Amino acid sequence: MTELRDHPEPRNSLRPKGARHGADKNRASWADERREEIESLGYTEQPYCVIVGGGQGGIGLGARLRQLNVPTIILEKNPKPGDSWRNRYKSLCLHDPVWYDHLPYIPFPDNWPIFSPKDKLGDWLEMYTKAMELNYWGSTECTSASYNKQTGEWTVEVNRDGEKLTLRPKQLVLATGMSGVPNMPDIPGMETFKGEQQHSSQHPGGEAYKGKKVVVLGANNSAHDICCALWENDADVTMVQRSSTHIIKSDTLMELVLGGLYSEEAVQNGITTNMADMTFASIPFRIMPDFHIPVYEQVAERDADFYERLKKADFMLDFGEDGSGLFMKYLRRGSGYYIDVGASELVADGEIKLKSGVTIERVNPESVTLSDGTELPANLIVYATGYGSMNGWAAKIISQEVADKVGKCWGMGSGTTKDPGPWEGELRNMWKPTHQPGLWFHGGNLHQSRHYSRYLSLQLKARMEGIDTPIYGMEEVHHLS
Ligand SMILES: Cc1cc2nc3c(=O)[nH]c(=O)nc-3n(C[C@H](O)[C@H](O)[C@H](O)COP(=O)(O)OP(=O)(O)OC[C@H]3O[C@@H](n4cnc5c(N)ncnc54)[C@H](O)[C@@H]3O)c2cc1C
Repeated sequence: MTELRDHPEPRNSLRPKGARHGADKNRASWADERREEIESLGYTEQPYCVIVGGGQGGIGLGARLRQLNVPTIILEKNPKPGDSWRNRYKSLCLHDPVWYDHLPYIPFPDNWPIFSPKDKLGDWLEMYTKAMELNYWGSTECTSASYNKQTGEWTVEVNRDGEKLTLRPKQLVLATGMSGVPNMPDIPGMETFKGEQQHSSQHPGGEAYKGKKVVVLGANNSAHDICCALWENDADVTMVQRSSTHIIKSDTLMELVLGGLYSEEAVQNGITTNMADMTFASIPFRIMPDFHIPVYEQVAERDADFYERLKKADFMLDFGEDGSGLFMKYLRRGSGYYIDVGASELVADGEIKLKSGVTIERVNPESVTLSDGTELPANLIVYATGYGSMNGWAAKIISQEVADKVGKCWGMGSGTTKDPGPWEGELRNMWKPTHQPGLWFHGGNLHQSRHYSRYLSLQLKARMEGIDTPIYGMEEVHHLS
């Protein structure tokens, strides 16, 4: 499904005229009309849909809903579109290449860097929000939301830069980020530590820590990026690896895994982003590992020396429990991997020190004690311990009862680590109706946000237009988080 036949988007031959030819003494310009919309929506007129979270997910979905003429407000606690990227650690560049990352409607230009630096991406999102005429409320926190069964309406309380407002949409989308609710471990002695402790999402970058002793708990993407940035700034950094990690070199990922669909070569071969997305989406999750396993066997062979050197440094490696590699790990658990853009060499060479197969058992005032008894002096501890399920956002904003009613988000019940069975076949709760009427979840990487926002926007538009929307079946809730 790509459109609702009676509600086409105003594109190509249906594009708006813009100008109104003729003569009119009461002519309202585009700017007048836009101003009036901005002043009335949320005040004298209610939006049909409210999206909580104005990262790239909320923005892309907002753009699609705009084109479908679904009155929508995007709420974002940061001041500006793009801030969710700007606020991340300084060295961050996208790990996925540009061909994979386009937003709906406005693709990146041909001279855009392959790996977007995070601040550049932030600026693009800000430009995009303006060009797509989104009703984006920055500096606005959604403080609570509750659903009225009788009216089929949400009461959404917001704090818009100090002004308290109530919105009453029919549909509420949580686009608050899959990497959103930080998992902060609870380790004895944390309260006694005299230095700094941060979750990876709070880490500002390596500059402030020159010459400091840093312990990073975790060994996935954020841990590697942060360790590398600390090493570049002459910190003495130790990575503590609790369990095995899948590593794939960025070049190898581009050539062997993504290249056929998302690369310059694919573009030259006539594969459009839409064709690539549809090809990717056409493989059911049940058989997807069968497609990936042989590719990752090639990966292991191609980079055998690299993996050998990592193993010699005591790094615990895996290729996923069934050898299906990166993307299946991402779909099943959204964690457990690092796309190597340089940090692995530092680990292999011992420049980033490594303690593997252990965890931090105790935090002391000036050190940590590991589970093998080793004591590591520390000025800074970074907990690169990942993020919780998105229904944690529902617990925060709506209620624990609603969070439990909808259950865990993401994963498809593969029966692998962090994705317990039974088999469900689709990502739990993402982009589809949930057990809470009027509540939807949107998120994922740029590719998924681009692709699945189409289907989510069409489902919302259909409901607004009163089109019958029978649901084939709702999976039972098997897990709460
Ligand atoms: C270190 C790191 C590297 C990554 N690299 C890549 C990559 O290379 N490629 C890729 O595609 N993805 C990458 N990701 C995944 C990345 O999280 C997503 O692609 C992207 O951030 C998801 O966008 P989002 O809009 O779903 O969530 P977010 O960007 O997390 O946006 C959610 C927004 O919701 C807002 N919010 C939360 N609660 C409220 C509230 N109550 N009221 C108002 N606003 C609220 C937050 O302020 C935030 O701006 C990376 C993630 C991390 C952490």
